[in-house]
Amino acid sequence: MAVYNDAVCKRCRALGTKLFLKGERCFTDKCAFEKRPYGPGKSKGSRRKITSYGEHLMEKQKAKAVYGVLERQFRKYFYEAKKQKGETGVNLVQLLERRLDNVVFRAGLASSRKEARRLVSHGHILVNGIKVNVPSYILKKGDVISLSEKMKAKDEVKSKFEDNSRRGVSSWISVDIDKMSATFVDIPTKEDIQPPFNENAIVELYSK
Ligand code: SF4
Repeated sequence: MAVYNDAVCKRCRALGTKLFLKGERCFTDKCAFEKRPYGPGKSKGSRRKITSYGEHLMEKQKAKAVYGVLERQFRKYFYEAKKQKGETGVNLVQLLERRLDNVVFRAGLASSRKEARRLVSHGHILVNGIKVNVPSYILKKGDVISLSEKMKAKDEVKSKFEDNSRRGVSSWISVDIDKMSATFVDIPTKEDIQPPFNENAIVELYSK
């Protein structure tokens, strides 16, 4: 499975926004972006000129970093989104949101999408009772995800799930802490998601 290997916090600083890539740490004052909200190698207050192409490119980089998707797969999502009815940008965000690793994270079963990807690829996640080890698996309305029996038996996993759920679970996902499972109730709208990037800029970029 291809993953980004560079220092994740540098991505937030380079792209000028918090992308919440490091789980718990992102919500504390240890967050590198909170301490140094300017690009790596830059000084506080320094400005750089950015072209419109550069701006659009940055929006795409933000989306790829948030969902942990590399260029080839991201492009595939774009073309899939373009084929669907409705706004391409919104379709794109919805496709990304339906990824299994994203829903595992959103449900609170993992503290970050990276951790969620690990859980999925190590075979610890079931979809409707069947093991699925593909992080990019696209969920449908009504699908139920749960942890493997091995993971459920670990006390620390349950308390982590409770902690993450207390922080807030996305409204389109309903969680059952006792069963350590979550239901993907509905496909979220763009307003539900409020992505930290401009999806229309990404559409423009690919349409050039
Ligand atoms: Fe980004 Fe999280 Fe690192 Fe802060 S702690 S810079 S939000 S990845």
